[in-house]
Amino acid sequence: MRILVTGGAGFIGSHLVDKLMENEKNEVIVADNYFTGSKDNLRKWIGHPRFELIRHDVTEPLLVEVDQIYHLACPASPIFYKYNPVKTIKTNVIGTLNMLGLAKRVGARILLTSTSEVYGDPLVHPQPETYWGNVNPIGVRSCYDEGKRVAETLMFDYHRQHGIGTCCKIICIIIDDLVNYVSHSVCFIEIRIARIFNTYGPRMNIDDGRVVSNFIAQALRDEPLTVQAPGTQTRSFCYVSDMVDGLIRLMEGENTGPINIGNPGEFTMIELAETVKELINPKIEIKMVENTPDDPRQRKPDITNAKKMLGWEPKIKLRDGLPLMEADFRLRLGVAKKL
Ligand code: NAD
Ligand code: UDP
Ligand code: UDP
Repeated sequence: MRILVTGGAGFIGSHLVDKLMENEKNEVIVADNYFTGSKDNLRKWIGHPRFELIRHDVTEPLLVEVDQIYHLACPASPIFYKYNPVKTIKTNVIGTLNMLGLAKRVGARILLTSTSEVYGDPLVHPQPETYWGNVNPIGVRSCYDEGKRVAETLMFDYHRQHGIGTCCKIICIIIDDLVNYVSHSVCFIEIRIARIFNTYGPRMNIDDGRVVSNFIAQALRDEPLTVQAPGTQTRSFCYVSDMVDGLIRLMEGENTGPINIGNPGEFTMIELAETVKELINPKIEIKMVENTPDDPRQRKPDITNAKKMLGWEPKIKLRDGLPLMEADFRLRLGVAKKL
């Protein structure tokens, strides 16, 4: 199996690559423009005969021959996706279009990492996949959340327009061998869409502004934890190994999605700050600071479908995942644990 991972030098992408490389039958190609990712995240694979790393921007066409595409390329942290919003929307729209064109040409199955942000500031709680969302189309977050919504639309339009027709399906059911012939000789796009909820773990950018990385770095630097007002807004945090497991199950399974992948454990930002304080640095202060516009007030995945269709549910609780991330941040920041 030859697998392309776009955005594979980033946080989730590099953990996904680690998992895919464990299977000796896989060859992995990463395409990344290093905007928020780094070669360092993949250093253990550089030079490996089953691994290839290409500096490539997905807004440009890409010609490779692959069986599967995990399409992750897109900055995920609000600081970075707001930095050049036009580029963010191009990455989501043109980047996804290019990866779909590639999938169509080579007959590859393609998985898009969409986001819980497609639900916007949700009026339904927890969020099932059937909820259409409450998104501001002209706000500062729109380049990301509307961008992902268009990316999902493109995935389904390619699937419907270039999907296997009813007629072919009947032939395939009758003559099993024809499935492979048909799927590789005519345009045939198999899609998978994961709606990822907030994910955390080792290798997150230390200063990328997301809440878990901010709080851990602040706790280790003896700086106050900056809770953005009002602090009662909630998020649900999934440890990265659980996330990667969910993505691979979705790719290998039979359901297109969209499917929520996340940990339903829900915390207010004040609760998160108190947990980080208790686990990492009980002496630090928790400080209330100004928030940014359009911050969703609550977010928690309904993972009924992931449980039923993928046989997946997260295993790692926040209290168990935070110390694993702390250990990685200590190493990178050079802060030893006090005995
Ligand atoms: P990340 O920023 O660490 O990784 C994104 C990677 O994409 C980086 O390596 C970056 O250099 C690369 N990239 C960005 N623009 C590119 C372009 N135009 N061409 C090629 N490469 C490009 O983010 P992450 O947390 O690993 O997120 C990965 C995916 O998961 C993203 O699609 C994101 O939208 C989605 N997601 C993440 C979260 C989360 O909590 N981390 C939540 C929801 C969705
Ligand atoms: N594309 C790509 N790699 C390929 C095939 C296509 O990057 O192997 C790009 C192509 O450049 C185009 C996009 O994917 O911009 C959509 O391709 P498609 O064939 O669906 O549309 P068309 O080229 O007909 O506009
Ligand atoms: N947040 C916070 N302090 C920070 C960074 C973020 O309280 O230093 C809050 C932010 O207001 C939001 C939540 O944490 O309510 C999650 O923000 P993040 O940027 O991590 O992810 P997203 O908003 O994309 O879910």
